[in-house]
Amino acid sequence: SRATLFDAENKVKITFNDVAGLDEAKEEIKEIVEYLQFPDKFKKLGAKIPKGALLVGPPGTGKTLLAKAVAGEAGVPFFSLSGSDFVEMFVGVGAARVRDLFKQAKEKAPCIIFIDEIDAVGRSRGRGAMPGSNDERENTLNSLLVEMDGFATDSGIIIVAATNRPDVLDPALLRPGRFDRQISIDKPDVIGREAIFKVHLKPLKLSVDVDIQKLSSQTPGFAGAEIANVCNEAALIAARRDREEVTMQDFQDAMDRVIGGLEKKNKLISPEE
Ligand code: ATP
Repeated sequence: SRATLFDAENKVKITFNDVAGLDEAKEEIKEIVEYLQFPDKFKKLGAKIPKGALLVGPPGTGKTLLAKAVAGEAGVPFFSLSGSDFVEMFVGVGAARVRDLFKQAKEKAPCIIFIDEIDAVGRSRGRGAMPGSNDERENTLNSLLVEMDGFATDSGIIIVAATNRPDVLDPALLRPGRFDRQISIDKPDVIGREAIFKVHLKPLKLSVDVDIQKLSSQTPGFAGAEIANVCNEAALIAARRDREEVTMQDFQDAMDRVIGGLEKKNKLISPEE
């Protein structure tokens, strides 16, 4: 598929209310909302506003959601792209995209730039993990570093990046003035899962036998994305069974299905990953 240049959302509707659990991460990332809303409060005292924050955690734990919520809370545009879009790119294209992204972001500032899977483009240079595409990946990474250094800390652009492999990142990305803040996001514990279930059960028509606590305790290891998936799957199953309400049995079957999918996925992942 031909990926678009990048995504731009001017009016983000997601807020911190849509992000369940992750209390510490939310607390930390709230600072960014303030930088975007009240930059003068910081500049007045001579503080340099950070340019970037790195969200570190396993897939599906809400990193994208949280970054979007920052834009939603601050009322600023959200530009996003994924590092994996750059992997098989013709020479010069990745770097040009990055430049174009920053150009547009500057015009729309204050705003958030979100880079998902930054490890795909930000692996330490010379690691050679992806033969063939490596040179262009390095070009792209270099242009990202150049752009990050090129805008002033008071330009109103904050870059939030996400990764589940902080260990492979090029140290240049983590230097002061770049992604010097890390916010870790873990898979939810039983309390977190309960909070996430609450968010995703809200739109469903539930039978009285649905027990949130049971659902939360029966889903160890599930990330938010899987919980969202279970809830929707249960509703689909209930509809197929011509029910008026989603029952606990539908959730049991949905959980089995999602667990089955996860097991399959884990088997497909090569052992050296
Ligand atoms: P990836 O690393 O795979 O990009 P991610 O960490 O960015 O994953 P998201 O894309 O934010 O994860 O999550 C996918 C979906 O899962 C969200 O759109 C949301 O529906 C649900 N979800 C994940 N975490 C949470 C959470 N903490 N609260 C509510 N919903 C969540």
